[in-house]
Parts: sequence; structure tokens; C-alpha cells
Amino acid sequence: MSKQTISKCSFCGRPRTETEIMIEGESVFICNYCVEQCNEIINEQRKQTSGGPTVSTKENFDYKPDEIKAFLDQYVIGQEQAKKSLSVAVYNHYKRLRQRVKADDVEIEKSNIIMVGRTGTGKTLMAKTIARLLNVPFTIVDATVLTEAGYVGEDVESLLTRLLQACDFDVKKAEHGIVFVDEIDKIARKGDNPSITRDVSGEGVQQGLLKILEGSIVNVPPNGGRKHPDQKMVPVDTKDILFICGGAFDGIEKKIAQRLNTEVVGFNSIRQTGQIDRDNLLQYITPTDLKSFGLIPEIIGRLPLLTYLEPLDRVALRNILTEPKNAITRQYKKLFQMDGVKLEFEPAVLDYIVDVAEEFKLGARGLRSICETIMLDIMYEIPSKNLKEFTVTLDLAKEKLENADFMRHAMAS
Ligand code: ADP
Repeated sequence: MSKQTISKCSFCGRPRTETEIMIEGESVFICNYCVEQCNEIINEQRKQTSGGPTVSTKENFDYKPDEIKAFLDQYVIGQEQAKKSLSVAVYNHYKRLRQRVKADDVEIEKSNIIMVGRTGTGKTLMAKTIARLLNVPFTIVDATVLTEAGYVGEDVESLLTRLLQACDFDVKKAEHGIVFVDEIDKIARKGDNPSITRDVSGEGVQQGLLKILEGSIVNVPPNGGRKHPDQKMVPVDTKDILFICGGAFDGIEKKIAQRLNTEVVGFNSIRQTGQIDRDNLLQYITPTDLKSFGLIPEIIGRLPLLTYLEPLDRVALRNILTEPKNAITRQYKKLFQMDGVKLEFEPAVLDYIVDVAEEFKLGARGLRSICETIMLDIMYEIPSKNLKEFTVTLDLAKEKLENADFMRHAMAS
């Protein structure tokens, strides 16, 4: 039988002449259309079996809010409220981009996000995880490096430089990206009364940032830092860039408490129900509190979605060690597995790690450094020992940590 006669797709029957590509197997053929369809079936199937979407391999903004949250659940422990708000905001943001394409007449406004919560509670992790799901350019910038033009530091425009760099200066891609602005609280005006304790540079930076958040064509210095006259700028339209801002807003609980104490009536007054949870005042945060903290109203207006992160308790810290898809203990297990060693941790070791993190107030950020300290010698020795399995016991973990400089450093800092 000549190839000419059988050269049609074994799945849909299309002849080779009607396809772009025909892939040949052992006495079977498959055309590009069927391959594409198979891909869709596989992706759909994976979404269903993994309880959430897998990381997309193409620009795909097609996830529903519950799917976005399911993806976040795989990496972020707790923070239900923030995950939900973020999922809805991101869904609406990308839905808005699609509507614009169809020239719809109702224009949905961009909904940038502000997350308030102690350091190390998962703000950056959440933003990063979303960007990973959507496969869009993503960058983290620190608001503390930004200063008003004329001062030492970086121009506000430079926060888009990293975004451009993240996608090899593909401006179109960058214009649909996500920028995480960390430590936004550090550019707040100090004090509530602008006429007396006015921090000029803080407000100047906020004004600069406002322009970018609002959506305008911004001239970005391709190498960051300060703009200078002979540098060729890259114009970037920020109207479709999603900005997620985060900050610890140390002391904002006091402002919230003050407001709650003076609020007499309100259709949603918590005082009436008499159930203020004083241990977690952040849950009552409103834009007014951000204003009292020193963010200018225009900035607050451009960050319409306000959400908060809970402090992580022992249970959360313990779960962070084992639950997330890339949890640190899973990473060690994987590393050892590559050497043919089955690694286990005694449950008491995990409790001990949490104890130390709590004792030294290191939070989730500390978990990794504690683990690294315990594991260093073990990782150094095991590969040459030809073992099939190894268990990290409580005694061993204590010995490693107590012998290391870790405790002294942790106590000093
Ligand atoms: P933030 O931006 O709030 O200061 P990060 O997101 O940078 O905190 O958190 C630091 C690290 O701590 C993360 O990389 C992650 O390993 C861990 N972590 C923090 N919060 C969580 C959480 N809720 N779930 C899982 N891991 C977390």
C-alpha cells in the first residue's frame, strides 16, 4: 500500500492535503486539528482530577473565581478571605480585558488590589501564585526604593522596568501583566494631619504612583533607576496592568480600634452586635483606616479592592511545612528521592520547628531557615552513605539546631 493512499488522519479522516501538519506513527496518522483537540481534552481532564487548574502553558485567562481559588489553595495555607477576594478581582480584571476586545459599551473599571497583613503571611506568595496560573509577566517591586524626582532613589516609573525585563521587553505582554508593589505602607504620609506633620517625599511618591495605577502611558527607563535625558524610554500603557499592593501597616489596628470605638451607628455596626474580635482587628479594615494611616484618598480610590491577611497561628505554620504543593518538607523528600533515599520526618520534628519559629517570632519566613539549618549536615552526608531510607528524628533536629549558630543569630536579630 503506498503512503499516498493511507495518508489521512486516523482519527478524523481528513486527508493530508487538508491539514497543516500530519504526524505519522506506526501505521497511524494524526492531524494537527486532532492533536489540538486532544490537548484541550487533556487539560480539561487535568483540571477536573487535580481539583483545580494546572499551570497554563499559554496565555489563558479563562479561569473562574473558584478555579483560581482552588489553585491558590494548593500553595497558600489559610487566608480564605484574601484568597476569595483576590480570585474574584483577578477574574473580573481579565474579564474586563476581554470585554474591551469586543468593544462592549459598558466599561468596567480596573480593580487594583491592596492587601494588608503582617509580614510573612503570604501576600507575595499569593500574588506570585496567581501570576503563575495565568502565565502573565509578573514582578515584585519594593515601594521603599521609590522617591520623588530630584531625590536619591528610583523614579516611580522604574517599577515597570522589572515587568518589561520579565518578558524580554515584549511591551504588549507587559501591558497585561501583574505588578506586586510591596511595602506600600512605607510611602504613607506620617501622621494624620497633612498640614502639620507632612512628609513631602512620601506624598510625592504617592502622586507619582497614582499616575501609574490610574492607567496612562508611562515612559519607562529600560534600565531602571533614574531617568536621564539620553536614555531611550519605552512607552508602556498601564491601563490593563493589574497592580496588587501589599503592606504590613504596622499600628493600623490602633486606627481601626479608634474608629470602631467612635462609630456610633452604622447599618452594619459591629458594636450593635457587640462582637468585636479584638485579637484580629484587621478583619474590620476599611479605606478610612488606610487614609488615617497616611495614604492619600486618590491612591485609595485606585485600589478599590481591600483585603486582609490573618496572622498565622501554630496550626497554619505546621501546615505550611507539609501541605502546600511545594511545601519545604516535600522539597527535601524530592531531593533525597533523586538520590534513591526515602526521607521521613518524625512528626515531633515538625512541631519543634514550629516551636522555634514561634519562640523567635520568625513566622512563616523563619520556617525555611530553621529547616535549612537542621538539614545542612544531613544533606552533606547522606548522598555518600548509600542508604535506602533516612528519618530525621527529634533528637537529631534538636542537636543540629542547637549546635548551629542559628539560635544565637535568631536571638540577636
Ligand atoms: P509577605 O509578602 O506577606 O511578607 P510572603 O508571601 O513573602 O509574605 O511569605 C514568605 C514565605 O512564607 C513564603 O514564601 C512561604 O514560603 C511562606 N508563607 C507565608 N504565608 C504562607 C501561607 N499562608 N501559606 C503557605 N506559605 C506561606
